[in-house]
Amino acid sequence: MTYDNNNIFAKILRGEIPCDPLIDNDHVLAFRDITPQAPVHVLVIPKGSYISIEDFSAKATSEEITAFHRAVAQIIQDENLSAMGFRVIANAGAHGGQEVPHYHLHILGGEPLGSMLAKT
Ligand code: 5GP
Repeated sequence: MTYDNNNIFAKILRGEIPCDPLIDNDHVLAFRDITPQAPVHVLVIPKGSYISIEDFSAKATSEEITAFHRAVAQIIQDENLSAMGFRVIANAGAHGGQEVPHYHLHILGGEPLGSMLAKT
């Protein structure tokens, strides 16, 4: 599978679609999901062209991987999610229900999130 340069997050990274960044550094962008599924719903994406968690984990540099996970920790702290807990989701491919083929983590919290899987 090749990376689709026209996916929505690629357009956000190029500034063609607006977002309100919570983190914007050399390697990472984090912003709120346009359709939040919980009071806190933040997307963390690498700036590199990676399709999925598999692609990112296999090919990203150590610097990119470190920056990405430091950004995840920063969002968890900035959104005050540590005390009550949170959920992190990486959808991948058809069975995973991934809609945007640019790797991203969903960070969700702010209320009890229910059971892990709802197959609807
Ligand atoms: P996926 O199903 O690929 O894991 O999740 C993609 C997420 O991107 C969805 O939760 C969707 O609401 C979010 N999303 C799609 N388009 C936009 C957009 O233009 N801006 C923002 N902030 N989020 C988006």
